Amino acid sequence: MSDYIVRATALEGNIRAFGTITTHLVEELRHRHQSSPVATAAVGRAATVGAIMGVMLKGEDRLTIRIKGGGPIGQIVVDANANGEVRAYATNPHVDLPLNSIGKLDVAGAVGTDGFLHVTKDLGLREPYSGSVELISGELGEDFAYYFTQSEQTPSVVGVGVLVDRDYSVKVAGGFILQVLPGVKDEDITYIEEKLSQIPGVTTLLTEGTTPEDILTRLIPGDVKIHERIPVKFRCTCNRERLEELLVSLGKDELQNMLHQDRGAEVVCSFCKNKYYFTEQDLETLIDRMEKKE
Ligand SMILES: [Zn+2]
Repeated sequence: MSDYIVRATALEGNIRAFGTITTHLVEELRHRHQSSPVATAAVGRAATVGAIMGVMLKGEDRLTIRIKGGGPIGQIVVDANANGEVRAYATNPHVDLPLNSIGKLDVAGAVGTDGFLHVTKDLGLREPYSGSVELISGELGEDFAYYFTQSEQTPSVVGVGVLVDRDYSVKVAGGFILQVLPGVKDEDITYIEEKLSQIPGVTTLLTEGTTPEDILTRLIPGDVKIHERIPVKFRCTCNRERLEELLVSLGKDELQNMLHQDRGAEVVCSFCKNKYYFTEQDLETLIDRMEKKE
């Protein structure tokens, strides 16, 4: 199954629902960063929810999620947009921890629980929107649900999972988000809560071949209306010009050092790990350009 997100509604538009399978995306992130199983799970969960939050946006809008919980993984950063394009990284992708008390990858142990989940949305306005909540679990699904409820005032259920195979590749990844609008009746909420307590985890369902559409149908009473299927893919927006800007932002002294001591520079993109080389001549050109602006 290729990666996609379904956007759906139910109960006369009072439930907004999203389901996704992101196995290829999370495997690509793992491969690019050569991440450990627990880091693959942590970044994969964040990227999966990020992918869904991306398609909640419109047009050219985009968002960045930053999760910093004080754990050994450092910071997790996810960028996503309305076209289902996602990129993500963690500061320490090689963090390795023993399994937690229930025999699962210890995502909360890697992320930590002493910190924040921060979301910035560039909606094409002068000021970007930004919202944040304290981390409450570090397992991320619950933290995102808390974010939607607290920061965006939309009570939400978030299910997300990444299953890492024995060879460390990603076996399945995916998730769902249900957002409950004020018109939902109590009996329908009770129905959903019951189904949530009975349904197997996301990775179990996806391993069994359950589609994102089927997951939504199993959780929500009545007809689920599917509006859209949006492909999800890894995409990095870095290019040589942006990394030149980054070098320039380091200042002239730093560039002089790179020129005279290192005789060139290699810049690696944090998101995609692509390498950009700058020769002595490239650096001289950049320094010249800076001097002309002075
Ligand atoms: Zn890149």
